[in-house]
Amino acid sequence: MSDAPDRAAALRAYAEETAGCTRCPLAATRTQVVFGSGNPDADLLFVGEAPGFHEDQNGVPFVGQAGKLLDRLLAGIGLERSDIFVANVLKCRPPQNRDPQPEEIASCEPHLFRQIELIQPKLVATLGNFATKLLSGKPVGITRVHGQEQRVTLGGNAVVLYPLYHPAAALYTPSMLKVLEDDFARIPGLIERSATATPIAPPDGAPTVELAHVSADAPETVQLGLF
Ligand code: URA
Repeated sequence: MSDAPDRAAALRAYAEETAGCTRCPLAATRTQVVFGSGNPDADLLFVGEAPGFHEDQNGVPFVGQAGKLLDRLLAGIGLERSDIFVANVLKCRPPQNRDPQPEEIASCEPHLFRQIELIQPKLVATLGNFATKLLSGKPVGITRVHGQEQRVTLGGNAVVLYPLYHPAAALYTPSMLKVLEDDFARIPGLIERSATATPIAPPDGAPTVELAHVSADAPETVQLGLF
């Protein structure tokens, strides 16, 4: 399936199915599944960590303070929410906003891979450690890899993975915010270049990041909960 309207309809249908997900115990404490939002045909997909209080209440990712910063950063590169798609590693809020647990990530990741398969983004920007480690398939932390693009295979598609600091971490740390702004500034060029097959060089002085090949078999592994 490659036609954009078909993929958008399939994504809508998948969101409806996912709304009833009971794959992990977070189903019992969530207000609602926060599937993700934005343009189903976006070139750029952001992947955060998990819904917080406001996202759980509203059903939309990044609507709290971190989301306001994300909007400002997007505006700084001439983009808005309707240009991109935003999702999270976990679709349900962990109680008290605690860290996602490995079993929760394992239960939820087929949803993210299916989203990637349907949206077919060119660039996947991971926000923070959890999304970066999951989608790079490596345990290397965000401090070491932020701003360094890597070619990976996700949801059966070759994409450029671009790790970024999480906006929530940058909210109260001006030095981190500056790094995040600088990393954001490279996004438009990366989107343009990711459309070509030309190998992407790391930024000046940055170590070369190896190719990662991550779970290209997601479609087959998608198992929805009780619907
Ligand atoms: N932080 C995230 O990682 N995701 C959200 O949706 C909100 C805050």
